Amino acid sequence: MQVLSTIDETKELVKSWKKQGFIVGFVPTMGALHIGHLSLVNEARKVCDKVVVSIFVNPTQFGPNEDFDNYPRTFEQDKKACSENGVDLIFAPVAIEMYPEFSSNKKNLTKVVPPVEHVDKLCGKSREGHFDGVATVVLKLFNIVQPDKAFFGQKDAQQLIIIKKICKDLNVPVEVVGCPIIREESGLAYSSRNAYLNSEDKKKASSIYKVLKKIIKLYNSGCEDKHKIFKESLELLHEDFELEYIEAYDLDSFECQNRLNNNSFVAIAARLSGVRLIDNITMNLVKDL
Ligand code: AMP
Repeated sequence: MQVLSTIDETKELVKSWKKQGFIVGFVPTMGALHIGHLSLVNEARKVCDKVVVSIFVNPTQFGPNEDFDNYPRTFEQDKKACSENGVDLIFAPVAIEMYPEFSSNKKNLTKVVPPVEHVDKLCGKSREGHFDGVATVVLKLFNIVQPDKAFFGQKDAQQLIIIKKICKDLNVPVEVVGCPIIREESGLAYSSRNAYLNSEDKKKASSIYKVLKKIIKLYNSGCEDKHKIFKESLELLHEDFELEYIEAYDLDSFECQNRLNNNSFVAIAARLSGVRLIDNITMNLVKDL
């Protein structure tokens, strides 16, 4: 496994692979790798000859009051996990390599701006500018790595929908593959931010999945009214949680729904001990985002 921090070296290595006819898979991450990230690596390995993982805590997707400075950084562990899981290249740039102009003038940067209909909901409501930061860095990473396929978790549902939209609208020649949410035994979705939770909080945090499972149960028993379904299901959310949103959307149009159907997904965000957790579930469990 190679570890590179410069754009030029990364481009050159991938170019040499492409010349040899290799299919290149790409898994963008912010590091602090867990089993969820590694599941994306494994999906990539199944269908690609070479797998690139980027590790970059992207400053432009964090708001001024968010956890950029405290975000878990575990590079040595990440390297070990990547090498044990068959990664061929880690691209781990420093911020100045990605944004030579940014540190001196935050505004002096060309941005990818997803359509307002995609960002005025769910996480976009409370995280102003977040998806501009995500969209911009992902397109930059795609241009650097030039993968054939890129793998993203369905856990970040809105992010996945937005990245697919960008690739479609801007004719980006990368196939975006959505991969299932990987959960701890308790049902809590793996997340780098789980590292902020103590063991007591983790137990409480698993109640998010109980809510999502209850939603499926009520839907499968014939109830379609989201207000009714959410009210009853949210009784299972641990009382220490502060709910930010729970909403139902159509998987294809990404429009808000009042009545759930087989094409709906329900997304939730809630804070526990100051830690913001997100999760989601599709009504038709075999139909993915
Ligand atoms: P992050 O490092 O948080 O930016 O995440 C990098 C990628 O891993 C994103 O595509 C996430 O959706 C994905 N990911 C994070 N947690 C999980 C999980 N529990 N299951 C599957 N994919 C995940």
